[in-house]
Amino acid sequence: MGGRQRRTARTSADLLEAGVIRPEQRAAIDRLAADFATAVTPAMLDLIDPADPADPIARQFVPGAEEATIAPEERADPIGDEVHSPLKGIVHRYPDRVLLKATHVCPVYCRFCFRREAVGPGGEALSETELADAIDYIRERRDIWEVILSGGDPLMLSPRRLGAIIGQLAGVEHVGVIRVHTRVPVADPARVTAAMVKALVAATPVYVAIHCNHPLELTEAALAALRRLAQAGLPLVAQTVLLKGVNDDADTLARLFRGLVQAHVRPYYLHHGDLARGTSHFRTSIAEGQALMRALRGRVSGLCLPTYVLDIPGGHGKVPVGPAYLHDVDGRHTIDDPWGGHHAYPPVVASPDSTC
Ligand SMILES: *Cc1c(COP(=O)(O)O)cnc(C)c1O
Repeated sequence: MGGRQRRTARTSADLLEAGVIRPEQRAAIDRLAADFATAVTPAMLDLIDPADPADPIARQFVPGAEEATIAPEERADPIGDEVHSPLKGIVHRYPDRVLLKATHVCPVYCRFCFRREAVGPGGEALSETELADAIDYIRERRDIWEVILSGGDPLMLSPRRLGAIIGQLAGVEHVGVIRVHTRVPVADPARVTAAMVKALVAATPVYVAIHCNHPLELTEAALAALRRLAQAGLPLVAQTVLLKGVNDDADTLARLFRGLVQAHVRPYYLHHGDLARGTSHFRTSIAEGQALMRALRGRVSGLCLPTYVLDIPGGHGKVPVGPAYLHDVDGRHTIDDPWGGHHAYPPVVASPDSTC
């Protein structure tokens, strides 16, 4: 396996030293560096097989020349965060939920990230005053029921700072749930220390959403980190991005989702790839995503099946785009079963006095 290097690779020189690129790849990677941040943790470097040109871990984290291709439909802000940002660090798109982005830093920079223009060491973190203003915004709005810590990766904050933020949010009476989105348990499991776990536990339930895209990411160390979180009573869910050449086959997804469920993590969303700049080589068609969801239905436990969603470009929200099993023809229902059969189902006939 590739990396013997024990620090995070951030430059083409680091990637070369770690043995995960060839010298002739350096120039293209250096040209991309101005636009998109790079970081590959030792844990992820160790998983890369440099002899495999289609390595699913390298494809997710090691920059490639394909990223220089910007498709016409791609945008810097693919899901419309900006139109819903009333102040720095807050995205408020749904009445009952807000995103709070306390940091712009991540342990790794995923090459397909929908916020790839906003994250990275060059991005500004919130100052103490800006963070206080963001928390005031939440405190002043009684409709906000859920606060989602995102970013950047909140687990890149020190346990002291993260614990302080969670403690303040837990102190807001109308905040019923806190959600923390993170790639740290997979990308840098050693950061999930006892102090970090303690920082996450609060009187208000804290759901931890693990970002994980390939079964290889569930290493012994990652599984141990997930166990520490689960044993502290934190409910765990997972988000996966559907990625061409990484996880766009039913076997890989089945292994991933089963591995997550066995690690106490309930798959929540499978995201269709967003229109982030320089990511067309990662996107499948929606029809391919639907075919994969259809292939999994009936084959794996329902606990292993996330909802396949698309975040509508422009800030219009996330909606399910999975396959439809119910077809209505001439007022009659036909339902597909998981094995390709079709079945008539009697529709309820509205009674004459029905108001709908
Ligand atoms: C994804 C997202 C949420 C959370 O959506 P859920 O469907 O509740 O998981 C909330 N706000 C914004 C701005 C989002 O992008």
